[in-house]
Amino acid sequence: MKLSDEELNKLITHTRKVVEEELEPLQPEIEQTNVFPEEFFDICRKNGFFGLTVPEEYGGKGLNVEQFFPVLEQICRGPGGMRMNLHHANGLDWRIMYEHGSKKLRDKWMPKLANADLYINFALTEPDCGSGADIRSTAVKKGGKWVINGEKTLISHTDIANGTYVIAVTDENKRKKGGLTAFFVETDLPGFNVEPMPHMMGCRGAGHAYLHLKDVEVDEDHVLGNVGDGLDIFMDALALSRASIGVSCLGLSQRFLELAIARAKDRVTFGKPLVKRQAIQQMIADMGTQVYALRSILWDTARQFDRGENIEMKSSMCKLHGIDTVRTVSDSCLEIFGGIGYFEDNPYGPVERMYRDARALWFEEGPRTVQRLTAARPLIENGGNIE
Ligand SMILES: Cc1cc2nc3c(=O)[nH]c(=O)nc-3n(C[C@H](O)[C@H](O)[C@H](O)COP(=O)(O)OP(=O)(O)OC[C@H]3O[C@@H](n4cnc5c(N)ncnc54)[C@H](O)[C@@H]3O)c2cc1C
Repeated sequence: MKLSDEELNKLITHTRKVVEEELEPLQPEIEQTNVFPEEFFDICRKNGFFGLTVPEEYGGKGLNVEQFFPVLEQICRGPGGMRMNLHHANGLDWRIMYEHGSKKLRDKWMPKLANADLYINFALTEPDCGSGADIRSTAVKKGGKWVINGEKTLISHTDIANGTYVIAVTDENKRKKGGLTAFFVETDLPGFNVEPMPHMMGCRGAGHAYLHLKDVEVDEDHVLGNVGDGLDIFMDALALSRASIGVSCLGLSQRFLELAIARAKDRVTFGKPLVKRQAIQQMIADMGTQVYALRSILWDTARQFDRGENIEMKSSMCKLHGIDTVRTVSDSCLEIFGGIGYFEDNPYGPVERMYRDARALWFEEGPRTVQRLTAARPLIENGGNIE
């Protein structure tokens, strides 16, 4: 669905209000329990947050990416665990099923995703190898079934997921060239075990765990795409997801900037508010410039995706620039805040929690080294052309 400018602005304003007034107040308790209360799901369902991008035929709003990103930005101003959940629900979760699931799987799962009546997560990372062609999990065909064995780590939303996308080696001799296959695995199958991980630094409530798969049997129609397509399917899905991580950096950075200005206006030292000092103004100008540049490349990448073009290079650039932005903007914000920014509660906003939440963004959807490789490859091939 393409919203009019007026409808989109209304949705953006409404989302911001719900995040500030209804979701944010839930977070202090989640910081302690590390679990989302049922209210989180109720609020998000009532406002259609799980299905912002899910196609209308499956009960979602069907926003294209150009319209979704400014809405996601508002969500990303809020608590990191919630942002992670809604980023997944509106990205990897339904897209992989929609684009690569068998008819049987799609018919069962797609109608339930827009409302989070069913939830799917994504299991790529493993404990003893690099993410991608290096993975160790295996799937072997026995009779009419695929038998999957392996270990996954750092997997989000394992406490609520009913299904998982799993990638495994199906032909050891090929690996990068068609030796990896993507599967859909229901989490209640025999041999599928979830072992919760310790509390994270930030993004509390996002239910991280190790997954142990021991002789898990799935039917042939649980192969996503074709046998051997797994790496392409996973990497393709990550392309848009990396740009969404850029939006997560943007939402937080914009809020850090606003909080820093609010504090600098109030805080008086040596007879003048901080905001009147040139040193502080220069920091604010640099923060704003980075935020503006990040928003611009994100919106450009979104339009390119909606036109059906390949965004692999640009989405990695978005993530790289996103991390640089949120790192320098959050540092400057805390510097401007002075000592009170280091404490959990202050009257301006949760800068201490936001700082912890932000650090997950370095790793989600791959670290900086991987983003640089992905961005460098086409740049080198095209002699530096960034169209
Ligand atoms: C909050 C959070 C949520 C996550 N959710 C999920 C999820 O839902 N599903 C999922 O599959 N994964 C998830 N992950 C895992 C995440 O994708 C990985 O942490 C990330 O890809 C980095 O892999 P790693 O942790 O194994 O680090 P490593 O691969 O051990 O890398 C450690 C460091 O070494 C560098 N490095 C690694 N290899 C090379 C190389 N060849 N050359 C140069 N430098 C290198 C990396 O850049 C990094 O700085 C999550 C992680 C976090 C923190």
